[in-house]
Amino acid sequence: MTEQKISIEFFPPKTEKGLENLHATVEALQPLGPEYFSVTYGAGGSTRHQTQSVVSSLVQRGLDVAPHLSFGADSEETIESLLASYKEEGIKRIVALRGDLPSGMGQVKPVYANELVDFIRDKFGDWFHLSVACYPEVHPQAEDLSTDIGYLKKKLDAGSDAAVTQYFYNLEAFLYFRDRCVKAGIDKPIYPGVMPIVNAANLIRFSESCGADIPRWLRMGINDCKSQEELLKYGEEVVTKLCADLLAEEVPGIHFYSMNQSQAVLNICKQLSFSS
Ligand code: FAD
Repeated sequence: MTEQKISIEFFPPKTEKGLENLHATVEALQPLGPEYFSVTYGAGGSTRHQTQSVVSSLVQRGLDVAPHLSFGADSEETIESLLASYKEEGIKRIVALRGDLPSGMGQVKPVYANELVDFIRDKFGDWFHLSVACYPEVHPQAEDLSTDIGYLKKKLDAGSDAAVTQYFYNLEAFLYFRDRCVKAGIDKPIYPGVMPIVNAANLIRFSESCGADIPRWLRMGINDCKSQEELLKYGEEVVTKLCADLLAEEVPGIHFYSMNQSQAVLNICKQLSFSS
């Protein structure tokens, strides 16, 4: 099998200080040799400029960068010109999404990820490597798993190269999902997304909104931690084991949701085969 690689996701910071911290994080993570760093895109284009400027600053460091992108309420011209400027900078990867529109924009017709993939392939041919999102524990708005996998196949068949999953802590959910994808005729690589555990309250709140399950054993383990230090140690053990099991299951690589922090990813990777 091919070498298993990691990729690392950031969000665009809102402040100068946040940007400084992000570059320190990149510096710390670079020795892990990630295949690429990705930068999220705010729903409805709300972070368009921040995403673009963080992406440019990472490209200037000579890194392979994958901007996330969704149509939101933007015009085709806006999205095409953003993609053209990425191409001009030599960017070769995009994470193509529908995104979630902010509630105030509820009347806008959603542009599904498969339509964005169609658009990019139509306007830019094969220039970009395209990744799309997928959901081992089912997208919260999906009718059911089969329908969701059907739409995943649709966006992969539209010309995407790979899928990256929402984070999960149930290994079995991922393995079952992967089997179902294969049965549905999906043969493109599926990269598990992994979220280190660094902030219990945020993790539980965010998981509820994005449909990621926090299993009972994990919830209890988190509750048992008496301090932040204990939580970090416990979280690292849980996530390192998850990653080790995934690698043993021959996943093509692991995508880390870093939350712009380096330490947890570094500690986890040191215990796997990705040490610096
Ligand atoms: P889609 O694939 O379009 O699917 C959305 C829903 O509609 C699903 O329920 C699906 O079953 C259904 N569906 C799909 N296609 C069709 C169709 N043609 N017709 C009818 N129904 C359809 N959010 C951000 O705001 N910014 C980010 O940068 C970001 N990055 C992400 C990265 C990853 C790896 C992941 C897993 C998620 C990310 N998200 C991000 C969250 C994501 O935007 C939300 O989960 C969003 O609700 C769905 O986006 P999607 O691209 O998966 O949508």
